[in-house]
Amino acid sequence: MDTRNPPQTAAAPNLADADANRQAPTLPVDDALVRILGNPPAAQCPIMVLLVDDQAIIAEAVRQALEGEPGIDFHYCASPEDAVRCAEETRPTVILQDLVLPGTDGLTLVRQYREHPLTRDIPIIVLSTKEEPLVKSAAFAAGANDYLVKLPDRIELIARIRYHSRSYLNLLQRDEAYQALRHSQQQLLATNLELQRLTHSDGLTGLSNRRYLDQYLAAEWRRGVRDKTGLGFLMIDVDNFKAYNDTYGHVAGDEVLKRVGHTVESCLGRSPDLAARFGGEEFAVVLPGASSGGLRLIAEKIRLAIEDLGITHTGSASGVVTVSIGAAMQVPTLAEAVTTLVEAADVGLYRAKRDGRNQVAMSA
Ligand code: GH3
Ligand code: MG
Ligand code: MG
Repeated sequence: MDTRNPPQTAAAPNLADADANRQAPTLPVDDALVRILGNPPAAQCPIMVLLVDDQAIIAEAVRQALEGEPGIDFHYCASPEDAVRCAEETRPTVILQDLVLPGTDGLTLVRQYREHPLTRDIPIIVLSTKEEPLVKSAAFAAGANDYLVKLPDRIELIARIRYHSRSYLNLLQRDEAYQALRHSQQQLLATNLELQRLTHSDGLTGLSNRRYLDQYLAAEWRRGVRDKTGLGFLMIDVDNFKAYNDTYGHVAGDEVLKRVGHTVESCLGRSPDLAARFGGEEFAVVLPGASSGGLRLIAEKIRLAIEDLGITHTGSASGVVTVSIGAAMQVPTLAEAVTTLVEAADVGLYRAKRDGRNQVAMSA
């Protein structure tokens, strides 16, 4: 795992500490979820009945039975060829399906409704001419939800229409709420990850910030105590940077810091190595498990890479932007704090500056 980047976990972020240079993303308000919360309960949603029957007289009887019933709309389809399309268009909450139709069998239509994604879950009440156990069981096997003999009693018909419609509307609302909730959770997770990243990164250079560096150093120090392995640390400071700002302006200075930060990071190879902005024109590198020789090698590589950028700096002895680097390596112990390592690197940095800048100094 690459531990150089801030960890991508969904732990609750601390907004107050987020980098002030960045705009923290706002928590997502999921439109779908808000809409669902505003939906009326299923019991108050309008019921749409679709009758598929070739006999107009039956249609008229059902229409009259439902007439004046609050919250129930009625739609009629006489032709079996149009039944599925009609159901897709009218989106009924219940289908009353005649069994005997010219040219087709009502059960074939029941199976077709069940195959279509838009009509798959719509409750179907089969209307038969007689109470016949074999027909009844074939209807249920095909996917019907209920069975009524024509013409049913008005009260029974309405009760069944209401019952099946309500359970269908409940199902739709549950599905919609579940989808919206899932979507909302995904959005929240993505936002938390972004907040976490912003909390741990430096706004100007994109490197890890001081806050994350401190956490990382402390964790690596503890690991070093446990494993008795060395912990390397570099303190990197841009030479004569005040003069650079004075000559070229702060905006140009910012660009230099970005390029220096990027170059420092590009010199690191192993996944536990971490580059961070320590503050101002100072950078830090944590190198867990590095040997003294390895530490010096990386420090020299960084120093040279920055010199090789060739960024003109008339206020510097070499004529280009350079850095001084203090390096320190310690095997962490319980008796000492991680600050001893940072202070040791600082001593090295002071020596590098004192001895002429653009160089690496290892702390003894
Ligand atoms: P030395 O070689 O001894 O390190 O000299 P120096 O001029 O680099 O050191 P000094 O501490 O005197 O000045 C550091 C300068 O870095 C001063 C400050 O304005 C500049 N600086 C700090 N942070 C930023 C920043 O984010 N952007 C810019 N453009 N300049 C910064
Ligand atoms: Mg400085
Ligand atoms: Mg400096």
